[in-house]
Amino acid sequence: MRITYPTARDIVEHASAQSPREACGLLAGKGALISLALPVANAAAVPEQAFELAPDEQLRRLKQIDAAGLDWLGMYHSHPGSPPIPSPSDIAGAVDHALLQLIVSLADPKPRLKLWRIDGAIALPLELDFADAPSSQHDIGELTRKQRLGMLAAGVLSVLALLVIAMALLPPAS
Ligand SMILES: [Zn+2]
Repeated sequence: MRITYPTARDIVEHASAQSPREACGLLAGKGALISLALPVANAAAVPEQAFELAPDEQLRRLKQIDAAGLDWLGMYHSHPGSPPIPSPSDIAGAVDHALLQLIVSLADPKPRLKLWRIDGAIALPLELDFADAPSSQHDIGELTRKQRLGMLAAGVLSVLALLVIAMALLPPAS
């Protein structure tokens, strides 16, 4: 699946605006391309821990998707403080396995988007790429991986430096 960059940005902005509450909404597009995200109010009793699409608003959004000549592809919601992995209630709540479930996590400084297909009790991660990413902001996930690699390299180097120092302090073997 692919998602347009403005759509991903809309989802991240909605999630940030609603944090620490979970944000939710509908995904629309054509075939393998997600090109529209429409926010829907979170009607869950405890919106900091769960999401529930407000039914009347969801209906309005579905009509909007229809009017735009797009297909309803799935839902999105945010995890303000945890990884983009479906929770047990996310899995229990995903009744239609044909619909995609996108989760945006704000737990790291760089928001992470992950796409899932939930079939019964099984959550399958799906490949998600940007359809039209500007080169400077290419892949949000990629940048995080690079940063992590950088941190790992710095850690390894500092351990090596410590070993070198420790070895220099040892008395010469006679
Ligand atoms: Zn969730």
